[in-house]
Amino acid sequence: MREHSIGLSEACIGQEEERAVIEVLRSGWLSQGKKVRALEKAFSEACGLHAVAVGSCTAGLHLVLAGLGLGPGDEVLVPGVTFVATVNAVIYTGARPVPVDILNGLPHMALSAAEAALSPRTRAVVLMHYGGYGMDSLAWKRFADEHGLMVIEDAAHCPGLPGLGEHSAAAVLSFFANKNMTTAEGGMILTGDADLAHRLHRLRSHGMSSDTLTRAAGHAYSYDVDMLGWNYRMDEIRAAVGLAQLAKLPRYNARRRELTAQYRAELQEYAPWIGLPFSSGQAFAAHLMTVLLPRGLDRRCLMGEMRAAGVQTSIHYPMFHRFSWHKHFLGDISLPCTEDWCTRTLTLPLHPALSEGDVSHVVTSLARIGEQMGHA
Ligand SMILES: *Cc1c(COP(=O)(O)O)cnc(C)c1O
Repeated sequence: MREHSIGLSEACIGQEEERAVIEVLRSGWLSQGKKVRALEKAFSEACGLHAVAVGSCTAGLHLVLAGLGLGPGDEVLVPGVTFVATVNAVIYTGARPVPVDILNGLPHMALSAAEAALSPRTRAVVLMHYGGYGMDSLAWKRFADEHGLMVIEDAAHCPGLPGLGEHSAAAVLSFFANKNMTTAEGGMILTGDADLAHRLHRLRSHGMSSDTLTRAAGHAYSYDVDMLGWNYRMDEIRAAVGLAQLAKLPRYNARRRELTAQYRAELQEYAPWIGLPFSSGQAFAAHLMTVLLPRGLDRRCLMGEMRAAGVQTSIHYPMFHRFSWHKHFLGDISLPCTEDWCTRTLTLPLHPALSEGDVSHVVTSLARIGEQMGHA
């Protein structure tokens, strides 16, 4: 038995974050202010797009979909394999999410399935770059242009991935505690559309025409509300943590990619019965280390044995179209490749604080347990 168990993900917080939080707490200005603006500016300068900070990626997705005018009567294509938040954000607007099957053995939405799911009501498609592996944004843009659709990217898995928001209306990052960089809870919208960015800045704060900081500085006397907004703001404490995390993100992502390469090499050598989706060549933010188990293998038993070996594993994702609420809402639908993926997928620990020894322990445990279960 190992003295420490290996967790699926771990937030890497250091003195920089601690100092940043204390500085904000002592400053006397806690809610959305200069730190939030600074975090937006940092993202905006890094990617050459407009950036809008929000309280979570879920809030950001809702804000973008609402800001683009989607609502009752509209249909929005969503991937069959994603976190439930992607789908819920569509439902919040009153539009109907239409789940689309993925590629065979790869958790990215299939273009052919998207084409088959089109109806005269289809107005948008939400892409999800699973695990931090970017989809072919240009191919999806061509598809969307051909059918008059808007593209929105759920980029929760890919802070640091280049090209986000360049071929879409907007991309939304997540800074949840288990993502590549964190603010505990938080998100960032990236868009090249200045009008949309302006609208989103208003919508995230009740639709008000000026924010508290602007009024405190005497630049605005009062405010008007000319659209129905929400409170989807980020606060100064989180933004300060985000600035510290952003500075470390390139290092974190490089480490995640190194560990992914080690996983792939060792899995190929010691557990060749395990499927490795994605290729090692493509640009990626290495959010998840996901493998594909052989059909018929008892995953629940395997996960229990891995836990006994001190390794936490997880499933990305359980099928949302089978959740009780969503099954009731969406009706009975069949997505064969999604169902195959969701019953066979397994996510292994991946975060910058893992050591090479940790990765080897995960691989040898998996190889040993698989062998005991009849796979070699
Ligand atoms: C984490 C995640 C979200 C939600 O992000 P929050 O910031 O927690 O709201 C949405 N989509 C995907 C694919 C995610 O992994």
